Amino acid sequence: MYDVAIIGSGPAGLTAAIYTARAKLATVVFEGPQPGGQLTTTTDVENYPGFIEGIQGPDLVDNMRKQAMRFETECLQEVVKELKHKDDRFIIECESGKQFESLSVILASGAVARLLPDVDTKRLSGFGVSSCATCDAFFFKGQDVAVVGGGDSAVEEALFLTKFAKKVTLIHRRDSLRAEKILQNRLFDNDKITVRFDNQVVDVNREDINAETLQHIHIKNVKTAEEEMLSVTGMFIAIGHDPAVHFIQNSEQKFKELLRKNSYIETYKGRATTNIPGVFACGDVVDDIYRQAVTAAGSGCMASLEAIGYLDKVKNGS
Ligand code: NAP
Repeated sequence: MYDVAIIGSGPAGLTAAIYTARAKLATVVFEGPQPGGQLTTTTDVENYPGFIEGIQGPDLVDNMRKQAMRFETECLQEVVKELKHKDDRFIIECESGKQFESLSVILASGAVARLLPDVDTKRLSGFGVSSCATCDAFFFKGQDVAVVGGGDSAVEEALFLTKFAKKVTLIHRRDSLRAEKILQNRLFDNDKITVRFDNQVVDVNREDINAETLQHIHIKNVKTAEEEMLSVTGMFIAIGHDPAVHFIQNSEQKFKELLRKNSYIETYKGRATTNIPGVFACGDVVDDIYRQAVTAAGSGCMASLEAIGYLDKVKNGS
């Protein structure tokens, strides 16, 4: 029986763990399908306070994990399947078949990368199509690649890819980027990058549908409807994320009711508390606006303080 079960191991979950474990509460972190979360697929993090020269994303989250473990947090390589609530406790069922019990739960399961809705890229996933330049850029040394999207992620991926690829084409559906100005400036200053505004990817490997790896893509100008083939062996999709709430959708009705229309978790305004006493939420699974490592860490702190207060009342009646 744990005091605090934290679902998710990104900056939100690990910050929460540092606080609750340090408060001498028995704390467990369910690391989920991607231990460390999205930071593990980032390179330079230059805007997390305290690191003058920046830090690599995987190093940052690894430090957080070690810090949480220093206070005796248990980190389990388990993927949560379903939550239940029985009497005074929450039951956490995992895909491995194991069950755990806890007096409180902190939901910090983050978000997952979106795929192109109208193009079947699944069969080429890992064979030219990727959502993570950090993980896969190395495989595209000297090749021509495309990045889809116009936000910070797309621009960062495009910049990172220039270290390996011969040419990078950024494809964006509108005529202006959403990314931070500083990143846009770096993008436009980079000779290896071409930006194709007002274009959508409409097909992959159309001329060679049986090819086992990506050979080319077709893009369509949304203003002129003109189509064009681009010969690329890599396509990096960076069009945003969806909250990782599959296990909540599998759970009993009262947990499902925690979800907003867009599937992000609802918390009370300015708080990390939810409609269920003893259940708290933080990080990207709540936040569809800021989605920064530092805001996730901050909200993890909020969730932990709420949990500490709640457990104090439950255990000591104070
Ligand atoms: P995002 O800001 O939501 O941008 C998604 C991009 O994909 C948008 O340009 C969007 O186009 C495009 N898009 C969405 N659906 C599409 C579709 N079906 N087809 C084609 N294009 C599509 O996502 P993000 O770039 O992943 O960033 C998420 C958050 O993380 C942001 O708050 C960002 O600031 C933050 N972030 C920060 C850093 C950093 O600070 N170093 C790095 C990465 C991410 P429209 O513009 O037309 O909507």
